[in-house]
Amino acid sequence: MFSLSQFPLMFEKNAIAPYMSPETLDCHHGRHLATYIKNLNELIDGTKYADMPLDDIIKTSVTDSNATKIFNNAAQVFNHDFFFHCIKPNGGGDVPNEIVAAFDGANAFFDAFKSASGGVFGSGWSWLVHDGNTLKILTTANADTPIAHGMHPVLSLDVWEHAYYLDYQNRRADFIDAFLSHMVNWDFVRENLDQIIK
Ligand code: MN
Repeated sequence: MFSLSQFPLMFEKNAIAPYMSPETLDCHHGRHLATYIKNLNELIDGTKYADMPLDDIIKTSVTDSNATKIFNNAAQVFNHDFFFHCIKPNGGGDVPNEIVAAFDGANAFFDAFKSASGGVFGSGWSWLVHDGNTLKILTTANADTPIAHGMHPVLSLDVWEHAYYLDYQNRRADFIDAFLSHMVNWDFVRENLDQIIK
């Protein structure tokens, strides 16, 4: 789905403000993600991972005890590429019908996603995924990613402190609320649902 190169943001750096500042995007997309990409390319150089697509690097390295650093950096590249596709200027709006149905209402989905996101202890991610049978919310710690475990991501939120600390300091709940109300790119979520649920 994504590559081992840095993709440009799909919007101007000030387009998500005040919910996500240009300074956060500079730091998060411009430096954190760039570093994961640089590290990954250096780590795989000369290894069996060098010619694999990103998804295969993740699915192979997750069970390779000698490739923990490769897994962590590859998973973070995927997670961030996915996350930055999940946000857009003037985001938010109507929740796709499949999600409303699965959670018995849009507000119930928001409540469950907020609770899961707020409950991540330390660094990690919250996700809406499809596991082959149903849509469900889950969280992953550090770099871990649903695609390493055979699940299909639909929506993700980065709840590492670097994702929100410049704008919200310790107020992670405010960042989560702003994400759901003003940033979610439901068009991308819609594309993911269309690919997964046939
Ligand atoms: Mn991040």
